[in-house]
Amino acid sequence: MKYYECDICGQRIEPKELRYVVKTTIFAAYDTLEIELTDLARDYTEEIRSLIEKMEHMDPKELQEDVFKEFSFDLCRSCQQKFLRNPLGNNARPDLPRDDLPPFDVDDFLRRLGSG
Ligand SMILES: [Zn+2]
Repeated sequence: MKYYECDICGQRIEPKELRYVVKTTIFAAYDTLEIELTDLARDYTEEIRSLIEKMEHMDPKELQEDVFKEFSFDLCRSCQQKFLRNPLGNNARPDLPRDDLPPFDVDDFLRRLGSG
């Protein structure tokens, strides 16, 4: 039978257990460009040729990931709770709560979903 493993702690997530999916996109953000008349008048031919030449020697996957990359992770409940409190894994944040998780009853949760 198919099962998942938490991508943070490695715990096996059984099919009946809640599994959380984190999807992350990281991309190069360009601020709005201000184009002036001198930019339009400039000849970019050599600059573009040089850039293409550099890219020909680079790994295509690396080039693509430089601009855009998507991730998807499966998390157990414990890691989901920790992720919500500190999504960037910043340990230098003493203000974040560190308390233990309340117990979670999957059957009770599913019953409540069905009755709502
Ligand atoms: Zn986990």
